[in-house]
Amino acid sequence: MEFRKNDLVTLEIEDCGIDGEGIGKADGFTVFVKDAVIGDTVTAKIIKAKKNYGYGRLMEVLKPSPYRVEPKCEFARQCGGCQLQALSYDQQLVFKTNKVKGHLERIGGFTDIPMEPIIGMDELFHYRNKAQFPVGRNKEGKIVTGFYAGRTHNIIENRDCALGVAENKEVLDRVIAHMEKYGIEPYNEATGKGLVRHVLIRYGYFTKEVMVCLILNGNKIPKEELLVKSLCEIPGMTSITINVNKKHSNVILGEEIRLLWGQEYITDRIGDISYQISPLSFYQVNPMQTQKLYAKALEYADLHGEETVWDLYCGIGTISLFLAQKAKFVRGVEIVPAAIENAKENAKLNGLENTEFFVGKAEEVLPREYKKNGVYADVIVVDPPRKGCDETLLETMIEMNPERIVYVSCDSATLARDLKYLCERGYELRKVCPVDQFGMTVHVETVVLLSHKKPDGHINVKVEFGKGEGKVPLDNIAKRAETYKPKE
Ligand code: SAH
Repeated sequence: MEFRKNDLVTLEIEDCGIDGEGIGKADGFTVFVKDAVIGDTVTAKIIKAKKNYGYGRLMEVLKPSPYRVEPKCEFARQCGGCQLQALSYDQQLVFKTNKVKGHLERIGGFTDIPMEPIIGMDELFHYRNKAQFPVGRNKEGKIVTGFYAGRTHNIIENRDCALGVAENKEVLDRVIAHMEKYGIEPYNEATGKGLVRHVLIRYGYFTKEVMVCLILNGNKIPKEELLVKSLCEIPGMTSITINVNKKHSNVILGEEIRLLWGQEYITDRIGDISYQISPLSFYQVNPMQTQKLYAKALEYADLHGEETVWDLYCGIGTISLFLAQKAKFVRGVEIVPAAIENAKENAKLNGLENTEFFVGKAEEVLPREYKKNGVYADVIVVDPPRKGCDETLLETMIEMNPERIVYVSCDSATLARDLKYLCERGYELRKVCPVDQFGMTVHVETVVLLSHKKPDGHINVKVEFGKGEGKVPLDNIAKRAETYKPKE
């Protein structure tokens, strides 16, 4: 049966798409329904219809799924941030495990995947240490801040996001009050006019330090000193900066940072290591889970003190320093210069001198260092952004032929693509462990261990008249086999 726009359909939701949407069928016609939960029976209104499938808006839940829970946040349905708040946490973990496995099967072409159980979160809310709030005006002309509604740039007013820390509201109340009092205009994306674009807030979970960075379409904010005075009343305030971004684009941060008060960074800890973090640097958003994530990466790296390691896409050296505690030497590469400044400082701060950091694109630095300086790696760790690794980089990794590759990924689709490349060229999937860093959302982090198909290019042989056991390179054996002539 064919359906048309505005038709009402009743569906049993049987599956969950990768963006968290419910999937059901009406007379063979597949309908994707945002906010419907697997196990629900719902009425949906068709908003877009193709020949065999369409998209529906959830109108009514006729029979709720046993997995359906009451969202904590009243904006959960409108906001683009959380897609899974109505799904029980156990089922969120099932969804994420299936997402990773599905990508590895469909995109990577893998079968018999060595999955370890997903590592779930203990604290389901208020786990994020970072938030970037857009500032604008609503239809009534009021200055608002909050989050973008899904797939749009309409701001849903909410200063107290359920995933963030309580300090966010304190900061936003003061910034908005300052803007109202002194007639400071929020940035308008359509016209490119107005001053205040975003407010970036970071919180050190273990140190309780607070960072505020105002992203401006200009160099200064009026009555700067009064805003600073007000923000400094918040306990833990450590860093207040301005970031200048005059570009007419979606990119949030510009390149220039100006210190207004305090210092340019906050400090936080993961395990035994302290990290300085500046506004432009990447830092994992869920500190409790990051500890588990890095412990897993370290376990997979299997270091005993003799290894030379490369940490590609190293940010402020977080993973590098974790590894440096156990390795002989660690080299990190990162594209953002401010992050590498942090990484070098962090190495000093923690007395880990067995490290070296390079600014640049991983896909340029690694091939250069390998071809020019003949660098070597026992273990390579990669932790790229969502788009995954550049092919040039993967090619160099294959040439360098490390014993183990540990791939940390925040996008299982590009992960699967890159693993396919590596596994077609001599590596094998040994372990896959999803780690939930982003509860309530559809995102999932994954750590993967790869090693050579032939464990170390040698095979063990028993030497009959000699010293007992020995190792013979496989190549030699292959050569001997070629020239082998049976005795007459
Ligand atoms: N391993 C770090 C950072 C991971 S996020 C941590 O766990 O904290 C990915 C990092 O890759 C970001 O810091 C980003 O700035 C950096 N990056 C993006 N493209 C890059 C490239 N082509 N080469 C090197 N680094 C890059």
